[in-house]
Amino acid sequence: MRFDEMGLAPEVVQAVKELGYEHPTPIQSMAIPIALEGKDVLGKAQTGTGKTAAFMLPTLQRLRGKEGLRALVLCPTRELAIQVYESGRDYARGSELFVGVLYGGTSVEKDLRGLRAGYDVLVATPGRLIDHLERGNVDLSQLEVLVLDEADRMLDMGFRPQINEVIRRCPKVRQTLFFSATMPNDVKSLAYDILRDPVTVEAAPQKTTADGVDQFVYPVQESKKTELLIKLLQRPGMDSVLVFTRTKFGADRVSGQLGRAGIKVEVMHGDRNMQQRVRALDAFRDGEVQVLVATDVAQRGLDVEGISHVINYDAPQDPEGYVHRVGRTARAGAKGEAITFMSGGEMGDVRAVEFLLGYRLPRVELPGFGFGSATEETIYTPELKQPRGKRSGRMGARSGAALTPEQLQELLNVS
Ligand code: AMP
Repeated sequence: MRFDEMGLAPEVVQAVKELGYEHPTPIQSMAIPIALEGKDVLGKAQTGTGKTAAFMLPTLQRLRGKEGLRALVLCPTRELAIQVYESGRDYARGSELFVGVLYGGTSVEKDLRGLRAGYDVLVATPGRLIDHLERGNVDLSQLEVLVLDEADRMLDMGFRPQINEVIRRCPKVRQTLFFSATMPNDVKSLAYDILRDPVTVEAAPQKTTADGVDQFVYPVQESKKTELLIKLLQRPGMDSVLVFTRTKFGADRVSGQLGRAGIKVEVMHGDRNMQQRVRALDAFRDGEVQVLVATDVAQRGLDVEGISHVINYDAPQDPEGYVHRVGRTARAGAKGEAITFMSGGEMGDVRAVEFLLGYRLPRVELPGFGFGSATEETIYTPELKQPRGKRSGRMGARSGAALTPEQLQELLNVS
């Protein structure tokens, strides 16, 4: 299906054309026609699948010719809110509709100026929205479309009371579009409470990583991780590298070490204030810095085009987190590489990831860095000059390869 075959208005089709979108992504093909019929949608999709257009395009279409606040998109974090707002503004370019955004950490005065000018579509984080609702600055009584984006993340962050409060202030008759990367019970229960006869659409089977991502595990002694990181960052093609650490302290330490090694780096975590985060993200996005070191704050919702590599400096403790981290690369069809450092203490974490994925990740070990975890399948790399993709068939277990029954048994035994 093409964008112009979905029943979308010409100006909406034109807006996506101008953005260079040639074909709808799977979630768009599935969700847009349903949403255009006015039905509720329960979408299982993570960021990177094109879900923003999946809910924004039919919403803009529905609001054509109307005035006043008719659509609200709730997002868990400022980063995601900004990103959804920016996409929404792009999609609304040819229409007369105004898209606005509210998030904490900025001046309320600025919010008020925007609100007075009048938004048709409002993107907001729950906390700041509630502030404005309580002060009477935002009126949801005319709302026609409510979107919950990354609902699982919102619940993880403890926003259920705020969501309830928002729902209480929305008209009962409305269209609700609900998106979540995962569907644990609390998310299902929220969906059940607020959706009416929803149509479920799923972007890709849950628990798989984005296509086009080459994935590797590097066994490495804990004390040598930074040295290995610096070595890898010197490889050609390491243009835009997102590095995840487990803790804020770790993020600061690693970014300091990279900085001292002459690598251009920014850092992003929960202790950084709004301005610092925006600055870090802009510098990374604009290519002023090669590396962004982040904690899981940035795990989802971070939409930076052209991330060439994701490096898990620390293996994710939560296997689902791995999928989200790796989803930061290879967005919308680009090729990417995900590297996970595995110290002796992290072997269990990596196995848990492999169990979730259903396949074994290939190991790459550099002489002098490993800790004796090598197996027959380990690829030894005496030097790192050659990009891995060109190496010929020495890989016992490619990413994406199915597990043999023996491998699966092995994983089951240790997990
Ligand atoms: P999202 O999952 O909405 O955050 O989108 C991920 C990225 O894919 C964003 O950079 C979008 O601009 C881009 N994108 C969304 N839909 C399409 C499409 N149909 N074709 C190409 N790129 C797209």
